Amino acid sequence: MIVCERKPLPAILENLAGRRQAVIAGCSECVTVCHAGGEKEVALLRDLLLLARPDLELSTIVLTRQCDGEFLEALDSLAGEADCLISMACGVGAQFLAERYPRTWVFPAVDTRFGGGARQPGVWEERCGFCGDCVLHLTGGICPIIRCSKSLLNGPCGGSQQGKCEIDQAIECAWQKIHDRLEGLGRLDLLDVVLPPKDWSRARDGGPRKLVREDVAL
Ligand code: SF4
Ligand code: SF4
Repeated sequence: MIVCERKPLPAILENLAGRRQAVIAGCSECVTVCHAGGEKEVALLRDLLLLARPDLELSTIVLTRQCDGEFLEALDSLAGEADCLISMACGVGAQFLAERYPRTWVFPAVDTRFGGGARQPGVWEERCGFCGDCVLHLTGGICPIIRCSKSLLNGPCGGSQQGKCEIDQAIECAWQKIHDRLEGLGRLDLLDVVLPPKDWSRARDGGPRKLVREDVAL
């Protein structure tokens, strides 16, 4: 999922300076799961903002998915009456709002952090950098792009000590983990394969990406 966290209240208030009517728009997907912008967080932000700015006229809505045009219609009437929209979805959701309401000020109330998952309640870890050319089948299911501090495709770098990364002892060396996992799977032979340079044009380096699936498109 996309892991997000709410911005500090002063930053949100700063964006509301001079505004009178706002809609706080949450999302029922990733930001609900990571407790950043679901029903509960939208209600909490509304209460906090009203304490700080009792003059505000605030409405709230939690959309099914803010990153999906078909669910934005539910916001149309509220957006028409507001002079700004506060998005509590990830940066994708906030941009979808900005595109749908070109004359309405839209700003994010959360920071979009990374693609990851919950390790335990309240702890999320990054797992994928959306490189567009997944190599997990060659690395024992452990992402070298995100989990190796140097994003080495052919590690380790030589600085690993007792399973820890030389960059930060709090980080497990991804290539040690890859080795251990492949050993357990009886596939250490994969470490003999030198991975070629990655096709970074499929990552963000190639510019904004677009995926078209003819079998799904209308
Ligand atoms: S190799 Fe690329 S797509 Fe696969 S997990 Fe890592 S960053 Fe994500
Ligand atoms: S010690 Fe391991 S995780 Fe850290 S940079 Fe080197 S190979 Fe990557």
